[in-house]
Amino acid sequence: MLGGMQDFVLRVPRLIDHAAREHGGQELVTHWADGRQTRTDWAGVAHDARRLAQALEALGMKPGDRIATLAMNHVNHLIAWYGAIGMGGVIHTINPRLFDEQIVYIANHAEDRVLFYDRAFAPIVERLKPQLTSIEHYVVFDDGSFEAMLAPHSGDYAWVEGDERDPCMLCYTSGTTGNPKGVLYEHRSTMLHAMTEVAPAVFNLSPLAVALPVVPMFHAAAWGLPFAGALAGIKFVFSAINDPKVLTDLMNAEKVTHSAGVPTVWLALFQHMDATGDAPRHLELVTIGGSAAPRAMIERLMKMGIRVGHAWGMTETSPIGTMGAPPADWNALSFEQQVDLVVRQGRVPFGVELRVVDDEGRVQPRDGRSSGRLQVRGPWVIKRYFKADADSVDADQWFDTGDVSVLHPDGTMQITDRAKDVIKSGGEWISSVELENAAVGCPGVAEAAAVGVHHPKWDERPLLLVVRKPGAEVTADQILAHLAGHVAKWWLPDEILFVDSLPHTATGKLLKTALRDQYRDYRLA
Ligand code: ADP
Repeated sequence: MLGGMQDFVLRVPRLIDHAAREHGGQELVTHWADGRQTRTDWAGVAHDARRLAQALEALGMKPGDRIATLAMNHVNHLIAWYGAIGMGGVIHTINPRLFDEQIVYIANHAEDRVLFYDRAFAPIVERLKPQLTSIEHYVVFDDGSFEAMLAPHSGDYAWVEGDERDPCMLCYTSGTTGNPKGVLYEHRSTMLHAMTEVAPAVFNLSPLAVALPVVPMFHAAAWGLPFAGALAGIKFVFSAINDPKVLTDLMNAEKVTHSAGVPTVWLALFQHMDATGDAPRHLELVTIGGSAAPRAMIERLMKMGIRVGHAWGMTETSPIGTMGAPPADWNALSFEQQVDLVVRQGRVPFGVELRVVDDEGRVQPRDGRSSGRLQVRGPWVIKRYFKADADSVDADQWFDTGDVSVLHPDGTMQITDRAKDVIKSGGEWISSVELENAAVGCPGVAEAAAVGVHHPKWDERPLLLVVRKPGAEVTADQILAHLAGHVAKWWLPDEILFVDSLPHTATGKLLKTALRDQYRDYRLA
């Protein structure tokens, strides 16, 4: 027997229709790469997205076709998302910071037919064009070409209907091992993810929110904010440049309450604050994810009166897997205890399930001690990579994340490392992430990376690479003394090397593979 309620196909264009109808006057501000600022509203974005859908159809695009972008955060990028998805297409965000070979591989593998790009990335496009075999049309986002493309079209357009399991978006993982792999989000998964993200314990979005996502739209869909923001009718502030002064000025001028980004973003902001005495004044919730948020960073933001949402996820999880939010006894906790909690990666929202298994696949207890491989399942978690021949989940739909973690009795999850970054010393595991986070808490240390180096007796021992803060003269002994108060004695690095800079991935994480290759055979003194 069926129930008596209506059909309501969970398709993404419903989001933009809702935003235009119910929150039509809510603003979207863009700070462009050339310093210009423009404003529109949700009604304007919805109208332009319809015009773009018409323009794409005029180019011969069909439902299912991949429409690519190589762009920073701005309103035209958002219009392209909603327009391409609205005509039944699949929006494919390409990360411009990838290596040339990866961009070529991704665009050809996706069989992109149109590429929208920022002027700033024109050199990449010009260089790679001869190798991009499927792209028929190139459109610049920020030199007037985009507006010219919309100009002939009226916006009198009905979104393409279809199944809620149809694909709407394609994101590739950065492929730290082997070729990048494509994750194909669907309308339904995107909608369920957006409905979850607005919740108070996740992004806490409502029309009171003014959000500036520093996380790029090409990094796991700016963590889903462009969809959740439409659902909640928030005000958006986009910046096409990630300069800390520009961001701080924008945050203050537009009274930004919500922001999100990887840890390096906040490090840069702190440096700007220290140098100028300037600081964002209206922030209420800062979400940090993509790599572990160091304790010192969390403390500093919390002392500014900002709630820190420490999130864990991956491209394969759309990306929200867990998010930290205050538990019932929050107000009874001391500041230190609150920070202890925020250092963990939070808890699952409804829909996501987690478990930790050991090397034999045995499920580990949630005791805060038993560590193992983190597995995840849920309606916005990957089943099969784009064009792959087989599923990437086991018979019960568990996806192995490649992360090592523990689950605590209260349901909070704590990442201890990535399986491939763990340092294996005498058969025991040392968490490179914990070493790094403890090290950046030492005054004078700007950034640190711990890698395993071959050792004749212990198999591997930790080497710590440190970038000093400008002008700081912190010594190896001072860092060791600081670490001794935070980690087990046998975890202390055998050696500390000072370097000018550390390599980062295209999404701003430490590039551990490169460091491991460089230092694997380093001879410890
Ligand atoms: P890539 O795998 O290409 O770096 P993702 O952005 O999908 O791209 O990265 C997902 C990975 O980032 C996770 O598997 C995890 O290792 C790491 N990660 C994400 N958030 C956190 C966090 N809060 N703490 C620690 N690690 C994190």
